[in-house]
Amino acid sequence: MIKITVNNKPVEVEPGTTILEAAEKLGFEIPTMCHNKELENHTSCMICLVKNTNNGKLLPSCSIPVEEGMNIVTIDDEIREARQTGLELLLSDHVGDCEAPCTIACPAHMDIPTMNRLLAAGKFDEALRVVKQNIALPSVLGHICPAPCEGACRRKPIDGAVSICLLKRSAGDEGVYDEKPAQPTGHKVAVIGSGAAGLSAAYYLQMLGIQADIYDKAPMAGGQMRTEISEDRLPKAVLDREISVIEKLGVQFNMNTEIAKAEFEQLREKYDAVILASGLITDEQKTWGISIAAKGFDADNNNYLTNLPGVYAVGNTLRPSKLAIRSLAQGKEAAAAVWQMLNGKAVVGQPMKFNSKFGKLIIPEYAQYIKESVVDDRFEPGNGMLAGFTKNEVMAEAARCLHCDCRKIDNCKLREYSDRYGAVQQRFYYNERKPVRKVFHETIVYEPEKCIKCGICVRLTEKYGEPFGFTYIGRGFDVEIGVPFNESINDGLKLIAEKVADACPTGALARK
Ligand code: SF4
Ligand code: SF4
Ligand code: SF4
Repeated sequence: MIKITVNNKPVEVEPGTTILEAAEKLGFEIPTMCHNKELENHTSCMICLVKNTNNGKLLPSCSIPVEEGMNIVTIDDEIREARQTGLELLLSDHVGDCEAPCTIACPAHMDIPTMNRLLAAGKFDEALRVVKQNIALPSVLGHICPAPCEGACRRKPIDGAVSICLLKRSAGDEGVYDEKPAQPTGHKVAVIGSGAAGLSAAYYLQMLGIQADIYDKAPMAGGQMRTEISEDRLPKAVLDREISVIEKLGVQFNMNTEIAKAEFEQLREKYDAVILASGLITDEQKTWGISIAAKGFDADNNNYLTNLPGVYAVGNTLRPSKLAIRSLAQGKEAAAAVWQMLNGKAVVGQPMKFNSKFGKLIIPEYAQYIKESVVDDRFEPGNGMLAGFTKNEVMAEAARCLHCDCRKIDNCKLREYSDRYGAVQQRFYYNERKPVRKVFHETIVYEPEKCIKCGICVRLTEKYGEPFGFTYIGRGFDVEIGVPFNESINDGLKLIAEKVADACPTGALARK
């Protein structure tokens, strides 16, 4: 047996054991991408670097066997930087979008492509569930949002943006609201203001099992959405319907209730947190002891916490904005921050994860994307904007979506580690990007420009006896992975296509 230490913990392992295996035996996680337990080691990604402190050398832990007396550390600043650089080199040649451009442009960060795919399949209830993960008032916003998402839609310069905003409204109008809040936690939060930000904060708090009590001097909830928007743009019945959904969850509405400094102090005593969402701040509110910035209360950009412990500020209390979706997004993020605070977590709000991006589509790429969409100009509702789409129009318009998001968005190691190590995609960007290709197999999709040449697919197809399988094609920097002899991907992957897709550490190979 060989004795080494990993992060100062001793371990004894058989000769031939790799450093990675020894570390795993002690419960230490080391990131890997080109490593696969079924296969012989083939070090290429260098993400698994660790340090032998006896000589200060960085070693690829997946392939180096232990040696007597090694003292290994699995993370320090130098290792972190080496992993970050390794990831940035891989990203310099990586052409793909993790999240679709529309999702990134939406202030609430709604998962638009998933909504579109569900609507195209006529699954309105499921589509509504997706929307409500980020937007508490889908039908209302479907009437009033200026749709920054559509400005970023890949189809916009070609044949018109997908009509995302109206599709979201249809999800709200046609889908069944079946929210199931978490078990009550016993925590309670006061929300001052019942406009977009306040309603959104209350909705997400209640869904998290936190009792939300709204206070507003107005007789009816809705803020400016009720008082400033005409009936022919936003029918009151739509607003009332979506507010009643929030009320049914258990949110308490205390209307006709003016909150001045004394009442604010009482709310701070009575509740675990207070969220300020009452619109532009008044002179009286400026006396509440909350730091003031140029245009409103001063709060942290990510978690909305003010200088007063447990007091959060969102929406127009921070700065004037005509975008209700921005206020809604802030209400949701503040609810997440309150939950984190009440559960002893780092109070970070809802930070954006790492996103690989490649910018605008060029014309040849459009031909690749249209393979899984339809050639059609943007539909306009036959019965006018106020009426919105019919169900058939919804399905036809949603089918125009190009599926710009990556299929491996939630299980791509490149994305996960790029996020963890703060990799910057543009750091080693050196050239014009390669054009995107999409190659369709019966059950999987291959996107060569997302490949990191780890070779797992090559080794797996060889191990399992695929007649053609995958191989390295070309040389040097231009090498790529493909089926030998120009055979089709269906011929290359006849036996283990889905196994290979699941083993690929990126979205280069993914199930349809
Ligand atoms: S392969 Fe990974 S990093 Fe690349 S676009 Fe897909 S999820 Fe993002
Ligand atoms: S085509 Fe679909 S996924 Fe792509 S940007 Fe437009 S709405 Fe989003
Ligand atoms: S396609 Fe093959 S070589 Fe490329 S990242 Fe996926 S498994 Fe690795």
